[in-house]
Amino acid sequence: MSHHRHLGVIPGKSPNHRAPIVSQEQSGTQAATLLERLRETVGNSTTPHISRDEVSQPMIRHWCDAMGDHNPAYTDPEFAAGSIHGGIVAPPSMLDTWSMIGLAPRPRQTSGTSKPAGMVPVISMLDKAGFTSVVATNMRHEYCRYLRPGDRISLFQTIISVSEEKQTALGVGHFFTTMTEFTDQNDETVGRMEFCILKFKPGTGNIPMSADAMDIPAKMPRPRPAISRDTKFFWDGIDQGELRIQQCQGCQTLHHPPMVRCASCGSYDLGYVLSTGKGTVYSTAEVHHPQFPMFDYPLMAVLVELEEGTRMISNLVGIAPEEVEIGMPVELAIEAVDPELSLPLFRRARPPRRTETLRMGDLKVGDQMAPCPVPITPTQIVAGAVASRDFQDVHHDPAKAKKRGSPSIFMNIMTTSGLTSRYITDWAGPNVIFRDLSIRLGVPNFPDDTMTFSGQVNKAEIRDGKGIVEVSVRGANSIGDHVTATAELELPTS
Ligand code: ZN
Repeated sequence: MSHHRHLGVIPGKSPNHRAPIVSQEQSGTQAATLLERLRETVGNSTTPHISRDEVSQPMIRHWCDAMGDHNPAYTDPEFAAGSIHGGIVAPPSMLDTWSMIGLAPRPRQTSGTSKPAGMVPVISMLDKAGFTSVVATNMRHEYCRYLRPGDRISLFQTIISVSEEKQTALGVGHFFTTMTEFTDQNDETVGRMEFCILKFKPGTGNIPMSADAMDIPAKMPRPRPAISRDTKFFWDGIDQGELRIQQCQGCQTLHHPPMVRCASCGSYDLGYVLSTGKGTVYSTAEVHHPQFPMFDYPLMAVLVELEEGTRMISNLVGIAPEEVEIGMPVELAIEAVDPELSLPLFRRARPPRRTETLRMGDLKVGDQMAPCPVPITPTQIVAGAVASRDFQDVHHDPAKAKKRGSPSIFMNIMTTSGLTSRYITDWAGPNVIFRDLSIRLGVPNFPDDTMTFSGQVNKAEIRDGKGIVEVSVRGANSIGDHVTATAELELPTS
């Protein structure tokens, strides 16, 4: 809802400006000795670290809840038994969650002589030199096999590069990259991860990340709806998260907006039905002029044809005006536009999850994947961080996030990869097999925004008798591209 606030993060950049985090040039001053010490760590490895817990159904379920991933191969034993996996598997993008340390730091459990974990000395060196803030910038997963409940994962981590000091949009900092190998209880490699983070000095960037610097004007409240005795049931419903459509008890006719008396049969006996909130765009208009400070622009007025057969006027949010089409599926998004007022707004509908897996003959290079909106709420950000066992304060504590130079909490990279793989799985079907997933982060996902995924097929070929497909995916929010990703998939050949 707060587009003006997001745009305040990167003044002068168009909404489609791409990934400011990794556009930088060398500043190269007085960091030589630190750089030398950092570079000495390149090639250092940890001794294998064993995960605290086995791969387990409860953690898988928790992850699927947080990501909204409904692939039954992850949670439904009966379906999974008949799937290509022959039993329950963990979502592949969970690869690095199993070995996360957890909320209370504790010594890592290792299988040999203990040595400091690969990243730790570099992190503390950078912290001491003032590079106290951290963001993940990119990640690549390679999957050798899917994990199953009962697997016990160990990791072995090596530092593969540390960059010179660079000026980035977020601040002056160093990028460093690790390669992690994951093995199972039989010492077989199950996957690998290349992971790059930026450690930077808060307040040294060219974007004003602190809330004070953004000079957010107090927003005028939206006009209040006139609530009468006849419409109170509707607004009470909105407050409870329900869309109530008035229904005549005499002739069953639906009315919206609510009426005092049925227009069809004249009855005063009026009740309501609960709408699914699903419908299609019947008509739409962009409101250009005059502009009022209580609305966010662009402002799309929409007439929605609800599934139940009645129509209602609302606003369409989280979508660029040029992307709106007549007949497009939309869904209800009850949003608190200010602390006292929630409104029934609509957004583009999430495309249905494919239940019959795509086959090679069903697709060709250049095919577009249906766009999918992901509401970025504080709940989504926090649930994703907790499901991935990432307890860094910037992902759940607004005050601490501000102290570290961010206007608010923001989504962690594991949630981004979980949502990206959900989008691809929903498009491909439950029997898709991921071979790899590469994630590159651009602008952060802050709360009260919508990220919309889109994607396309880059490659489709038969290799060694297997159907191999490469897709590229983009997730864009109101400030720009949050994520660009590619994945190599295996699909049934016939
Ligand atoms: Zn009637």
